Amino acid sequence: MSSSDADLIAQVLKRQPRAIARMMSRAESATPEDRKALADIFRLAGKAHVIGITGVPGSGKSTLVRSLTLKIRESGRTVGIVAVDPSSGGALGGLARPALDTVDVLDAAGFDVVLIETVGVGQDEVDIVSAAHTVVVVSAPGLGDEIQAIKAGVLEIADIHAVSKCDRDDAARTVADLQAMLGLGRGDRRSHGWTPPVVPTSAETGGKIDVLLQAIDDHLAHLIDSGEMALRQRCIAEMRILKAAEDEVRALLQAQRQGRLAHLIEQTVERTLAPHSAALQLLDGFRD
Ligand code: GDP
Repeated sequence: MSSSDADLIAQVLKRQPRAIARMMSRAESATPEDRKALADIFRLAGKAHVIGITGVPGSGKSTLVRSLTLKIRESGRTVGIVAVDPSSGGALGGLARPALDTVDVLDAAGFDVVLIETVGVGQDEVDIVSAAHTVVVVSAPGLGDEIQAIKAGVLEIADIHAVSKCDRDDAARTVADLQAMLGLGRGDRRSHGWTPPVVPTSAETGGKIDVLLQAIDDHLAHLIDSGEMALRQRCIAEMRILKAAEDEVRALLQAQRQGRLAHLIEQTVERTLAPHSAALQLLDGFRD
């Protein structure tokens, strides 16, 4: 590691905003040199409570994240926020690796809580949020008469359901629908011995955000007391390894574009080679 990297990491540990911002942008670019620094950051991380907030666009996530952040700060804790936006994702790599490396940067910097907020509920975003210790799925009244989380396939990853906009009259119906759904045994796949609570909130009036924070804190206590935290950390590690491997394979494939792949395309177009056989030959090329 270069001495300037050692200096940068030391500044990150002192929670200097410019150093944190620089390290975060290195999580995005991730050159081989960046990766060395990020590996050091990874070793220094692992203390923060990582909370994922997801839900369909318009469900009130960013409004909720703002008021939740204020509440957490009121409780004397520091908060770092990672916003995952697919439209800013690199064309080649997946979103997960840079997003979770960014979580590590904030974690290593000593923030007590790191919030991961997604813009939508795309597969990458759901994967990223699943790498949190505590997942809050936000549903809102008035976005259609079905529970949006079911349609989006995120009901199952919720440790806590927040129903936003409960200052509105139609919110009670959304709360009741969710509770009925959970009563049917859906939505508590992730954690044994924990029933995901349904917490009505109103970020605009500040209502019940303290109840949501209490549920989040209770969930962390449950993870620790039940031994579930160790299991979850294994799942997170597995996911991160596989995502990183996917990125590497994608980069290798990209590097083959001009050479071997062009040749295989020709043979496949002529139907002298089937696509699957061509794929195996391409992968064989990685071992050269
Ligand atoms: P996101 O796309 O999930 O991040 O949703 P936003 O936080 O941007 O909120 C979407 C819309 O819902 C905005 O117009 C907000 O003003 C509104 N909204 C968010 N929270 C509340 C709330 O607690 N009560 C009400 N009435 N509206 C809210």
